[in-house]
Amino acid sequence: MPDLDLIVKEIADEMRARPDRGEVASYIPELAGVDPRAFGLVVIDGAGRVAAGGDADTPFSIQSISKVFTLTLALGMVGDRLWRKVGREPSGSPFNSIVQLEREQGIPRNPFINAGAIAVTDVILSGHQPREALGEILRFLQFLAQDSGITIDETVAASEKRTGFRNAALANYMRSFGVIENPVDYTLGVYFHHCAIAMTCRQLATAGLFLAYSGRNPLSGHSVISAERARRINAIMLTCGHYDGSGDFAYRVGLPGKSGVGGGILAVAPGKASICVWSPGLDAAGNSHLGRIALEMLVKRTGWSIFGT
Ligand code: GLN
Repeated sequence: MPDLDLIVKEIADEMRARPDRGEVASYIPELAGVDPRAFGLVVIDGAGRVAAGGDADTPFSIQSISKVFTLTLALGMVGDRLWRKVGREPSGSPFNSIVQLEREQGIPRNPFINAGAIAVTDVILSGHQPREALGEILRFLQFLAQDSGITIDETVAASEKRTGFRNAALANYMRSFGVIENPVDYTLGVYFHHCAIAMTCRQLATAGLFLAYSGRNPLSGHSVISAERARRINAIMLTCGHYDGSGDFAYRVGLPGKSGVGGGILAVAPGKASICVWSPGLDAAGNSHLGRIALEMLVKRTGWSIFGT
C-alpha cells in the first residue's frame, strides 16, 4: 500500500512551489478574482483513509464537475431514455462549442460539454419548478458528500448569468430542435446555479466515492446507483471529462476524471480511491494545469492508472 499521506504532501509542496500555473478563468468575471496560488489535493479510499494536502478545505466553484452529478441524477430519473437527447461520444471540440449541434440536429455529443449538460439539466427540470430541480441537485450533492452545509455561490451564478451569452445561444439553438423542452431561461437558470455550487476538495472526493466503488459509498454504506451505471459514467468521464483535452488526460493520467473551469478535477481510481484536486489556473482546453500535473504524479507513484502500472 503506497504511503498516501507522504505522496499527497510531497505533491502539494511541489505544486505550490511551481511558477507555471496556467490562467485563471476570466470569462465568468467572478472567477477571475480567485487566488491562482491556491492548491488542494484530497485522496479518500474505501476504508475511510483520507490523505489531504494544501487548501483541502477551501470551497471553490465546482463549475463543470457538477455535470457528473446531474448526469447521475438524470439517469436515475429517466434511465436510458436520456440518450435520446444527448450522445456519448467525445466531442473533440471546446467545452462551449456550437458547430457540432448543427450537424447533429441539436443533439449534443456528450453530457459533459456545456450543450450536453444544459440538455441534461432540462431533463431534470421537466415537471418541476426551477427551484425544486435546483434543490434536488443541491440535496443530492449534500447527501453524497455527507455535508448539509454545501451551498450555491449566488454571486458566481449571477456573474455567469450576466455574461453567459454563449450558453444562452446553445440552449436556444437546442430549443429550436425541441431538444430543450422547458423555457430556456428556466433551464439556464438551473444550469448556472448548479455550476456555481461551492465545495471543497474533501467534500468532492467524498461525493465521488460511489463512482470508485461500484455505485456504493463504502463509508456510509449507501447504494447510490447500480455497479453497471457507475462503470458507464466512469467510461464517459474517461472519454469526455476533459473536453478536447480528454485524450491527453487519458494518456497522461489514465483515470476517469471531470474538470471544471473553477480549476477542480474529480478523478476516480476504481476500487482504489476517489480523488479531488484544485488549482485555479487553466490550460488552453480549460482544464486545471497543475491539477492535471498533480494527478499525473499521483498515478505514477501509486500505479493507479486503469491502463496498468
Ligand atoms: N459554468 C461554466 C460554463 O457554462 C462551466 C464550464 C466549465 O467548467 N468548463 O461556461
